[in-house]
Amino acid sequence: MLANLAAALLPDGRCRLCCLPSRAPLCSACQCERPARWRCPRCALALGGPAAACGACALRLPAFAGALAWSDYAPPWERLVAGIKFGDDPALARWLGRLLGQCLRSERPGWGPSRWVVPVPLSPSRLRQRGYNQAWELARGLAHELRWPCDCRLLLRRRDGPAQSTLPLAHRAANVRGAFIAAPLARGARMLLVDDVMTSGNTAEQAARALLRAGAGDVRLAVLLRTPPPVPRD
Ligand SMILES: [Zn+2]
Ligand SMILES: [Zn+2]
Repeated sequence: MLANLAAALLPDGRCRLCCLPSRAPLCSACQCERPARWRCPRCALALGGPAAACGACALRLPAFAGALAWSDYAPPWERLVAGIKFGDDPALARWLGRLLGQCLRSERPGWGPSRWVVPVPLSPSRLRQRGYNQAWELARGLAHELRWPCDCRLLLRRRDGPAQSTLPLAHRAANVRGAFIAAPLARGARMLLVDDVMTSGNTAEQAARALLRAGAGDVRLAVLLRTPPPVPRD
């Protein structure tokens, strides 16, 4: 089925990353060729070796109890986000959501057997502009792959600020503080937040807090790409 969908998506039948002929949006080599990384179990930040938490999480734990990233927000994978965000390609986002679901199944088996899958919402005005929410398309693909329930009405964005990616890191926390409101949830509900990219983590933090305030007992996070830490200078 994935192959059929891909054929419809890619009339020229080429991999989005290496441009070699492929029936799927990513060829099987590119699907496997992710950086072999240790990641912080709490925020998915790339680490130099195994650790219980990165420096930031050791100082202050995020509201979400664990995070998974499929790959780095860096070349060549960042092109995928450009495709699903600005390339008017929701079907690619759904396909990548299934890939993220497969990754979750193999790398975080303890997160099952089931959770409510909730996308990080766009503001109504940005949704109108883009026509779709790429995080919702990712979430749908992931939920379909894992056979988990998925609902985009559980979490809403009530404020419209500038896109996080356009702001310096120091201004991002204030930009999303109080931006989300969640529908009342079953007490102790197990949730999986889904987004395309995580950089500062402020958006995911505020979204997870809104879900916890609404009754969720456990919130985890799955992102397609995670921004790696800056390369240390010699
Ligand atoms: Zn490829
Ligand atoms: Zn961390």
